[in-house]
Amino acid sequence: MSASNPQTEAAANAPVEPRPSNFVRDIILDDLKTHKFSGRVQTRFPPEPNGYLHIGHAKAICLDFGLADEFGGHTNLRFDDTNPEKEETEYVDSIMEDVKWLGFQWDGLFYASDYFDQLYEWAVQLIKAGKAYVDDLTADEIRKYRGTLTEPGKDSPFRNRSVEENLALFERMRAGEFPDGSRTLRAKIDMASPNFNMRDPVMYRILHADHHRTGSKWPIYPMYDFAHGQSDSLEQVTHSMCTLEFEDHRPLYNWFIKELGIFPSQQIEFDRLNLTYTLLSKRKLHQLVRESRVSGWDDPRMPTLSGIRRRGYTPEAIRNFCGAIGVSKTTGSIELAMLEHFVREDLNKRAPRAMAVLRPLKVVIDNYPENQTEEMDAVNNPEDPSAGSRKIPFSRTLYIEQDDFREIPPPKYFRLSPGREVRLRYGYFVTCTSVVKNDKGEVIEVHCTYDPATRGGNNPPDGRKVRSTIHWVSAAHAVNAEVRIYENLFSKEDPNQTDADQDFTANLNPNSLEVLTDCKLEPSLASAVPGNRYQFERLGYFCVDLDSALGKPVFNRTVALKDTWAKIEKRK
Ligand code: ATP
Ligand code: MG
Repeated sequence: MSASNPQTEAAANAPVEPRPSNFVRDIILDDLKTHKFSGRVQTRFPPEPNGYLHIGHAKAICLDFGLADEFGGHTNLRFDDTNPEKEETEYVDSIMEDVKWLGFQWDGLFYASDYFDQLYEWAVQLIKAGKAYVDDLTADEIRKYRGTLTEPGKDSPFRNRSVEENLALFERMRAGEFPDGSRTLRAKIDMASPNFNMRDPVMYRILHADHHRTGSKWPIYPMYDFAHGQSDSLEQVTHSMCTLEFEDHRPLYNWFIKELGIFPSQQIEFDRLNLTYTLLSKRKLHQLVRESRVSGWDDPRMPTLSGIRRRGYTPEAIRNFCGAIGVSKTTGSIELAMLEHFVREDLNKRAPRAMAVLRPLKVVIDNYPENQTEEMDAVNNPEDPSAGSRKIPFSRTLYIEQDDFREIPPPKYFRLSPGREVRLRYGYFVTCTSVVKNDKGEVIEVHCTYDPATRGGNNPPDGRKVRSTIHWVSAAHAVNAEVRIYENLFSKEDPNQTDADQDFTANLNPNSLEVLTDCKLEPSLASAVPGNRYQFERLGYFCVDLDSALGKPVFNRTVALKDTWAKIEKRK
């Protein structure tokens, strides 16, 4: 290979420092060493545009784009659109948006349907070589003839048609002369093969259906298995990564490549991502949307990239997660908590802090001057000094979380209660003096006194300490907001585990969405726009939802902070 190939040069200059490897990367490193593909690395991400991408696809995207990037190679985005009945432009658009959002840019943009003419010619080539035939068996009959795991299949009575007859029939299939399902074109391989995929697989089916790109041009469509490998080959893909269920299809793809004498892309299979409490199947996610179990593909509880984006997950967090889980040859299940860990870790670095009270309880500081407001300094992000600080108004009437007050404090409860002093973050030390109750005996207002010597929340000169710091929002300055709290969409670790008469929807968590409509936010959040992410102090990470309107912000809880109190309470 000439040294002027820019990709070869790029590969030679690829970083050599040790980084966490995986078996796919090792194969590529080896191929670069042996100059197998002239030092080229060409990958592709091949979604079928029949749904929105999910976090499992992110794993494949990070692998396909990540490895090509590392070795100065290229990655195509190719839509495997051989199934006109399930495919839509909406999905194509969403997939492109999601790939870009994850931080990747494809080199070539292709569609398997771009290759329909070429695939048709290749089918004719195989017929002429006596390697393919038109079969009149129905789908049911084909299934019956296929045999079982222990028994070989049976040859179709149409298997030995002459080349001329096959050519004529295939041409008539192409001309739209036959009804749907009445005939197929099959590869003539081996009905006794231990691999089902090699028992004369169907290459073409008759389907009078409009295609999202080719319209009504074709009354026949290639099967995925007759399109995928050749599409890779046409694009000179060197390393074609796919999930393990395609391992058994590799001999078939290699057979087509060999019989057609075309560029031999190398398929490498890796394990699918499975996550606890989550389903990663487009078919099942589609069912949730269709049955209105969620608000749409981008419902923040969905594991789709559009859902987790709306929820506030960052592309960096997802890429870090995908890097950490790596790839292997054995399928397992990853804890959802691990994904959440990477989300927290990333947001901790980048999300500005803010104070917000989700379930407000009124606090009146009796010895604080009426009509006075002080501007308190608050740090925007302790992890990022460059984020600076902001002013928060403090006044006589505040809101705190209902959870941060107990009239009768249980053991180890150090937050506000009658006679107890706590720190209001960036505010003052306050001591609870009395409460006001409603007719039902519920505390609706807490009265306190404050210590002016603790301004900013600092320890007083007498060295007195408090055991708890709580957050607050000044009542007169608060921005009212709706906050949506999400829990796992499924209550079972494996949502597919059901009784025989149920489907996975039986495992939907009835409490996966809680809408809080009376939340109080510090005034700096009034200008937040959809997509902005914050850490609400002591509560978690939150992001502004698309449903926000001017003066009516809606926030999603992206992920909670770890709550040690909840753990203590649970243990009891
Ligand atoms: P689904 O089962 O959700 O419908 P799929 O495999 O049919 O997924 P495709 O659009 O064909 O979806 O997938 C595009 C690429 O993403 C393929 O290479 C596929 O192997 C990969 N992929 C899909 N799901 C996962 C997953 N859970 N983990 C890793 N890779 C995946
Ligand atoms: Mg698929």
